[in-house]
Amino acid sequence: MQGYVLNINKVRDEDLIVTILGEDYIHRAYRFYGARHSNIHIGYKIDFELEINIKSNMPRLKDVIQLGFPWLLDSKKLYLWQLYIKLFYHHLKDVDEIDDFYKNLLDDLVERITKQNPKRAILESYVKLCEYEGRLHEDFTCLLCDLPIESEISLIRGFLTTHASCSYSKNFNIEKITTLFSDKTSIDFDDDEIEYLWGIIQQGL
Ligand SMILES: [Zn+2]
Repeated sequence: MQGYVLNINKVRDEDLIVTILGEDYIHRAYRFYGARHSNIHIGYKIDFELEINIKSNMPRLKDVIQLGFPWLLDSKKLYLWQLYIKLFYHHLKDVDEIDDFYKNLLDDLVERITKQNPKRAILESYVKLCEYEGRLHEDFTCLLCDLPIESEISLIRGFLTTHASCSYSKNFNIEKITTLFSDKTSIDFDDDEIEYLWGIIQQGL
């Protein structure tokens, strides 16, 4: 099986409980310490096997092989990726069965980070996630006053839309947000705006 390491919890000395996003399931597995085991880190894509243990309801993680990304040694890209994966973990923490959309989305994001600015790639991927989960509101109503937004649009956590004057937050050109939501591209935003949107993502998915 293949999947992404979403979280690692250290238990008892060097043993680990590892949470892995697979194709259709979020696995939680136990990994016994072994000096010759390869290191596992958050965000890594791994090939692995699960061994069912009749004495425990948690399978044992074994035969782990780390799968490389072209940018795995680019510490800046890896850092931003790991920040995003941690948010992903919190977002899916209570989920067991999962649609393959999520793993495919991360596969696609890995490819995009190879070629693109990582914050832009993550932003565009996050908009796809919101759309898939039915959280992307393209009718532009203000969450706070319930009135339609015709100009001075602002985004808050979860990319919910508000009037900038209602949420006291950064005003965006409405066409730029329309393009972001419909075409899933960040091309219209300058780097300061990307930083601002990145900051919203960091509040939680
Ligand atoms: Zn409003």
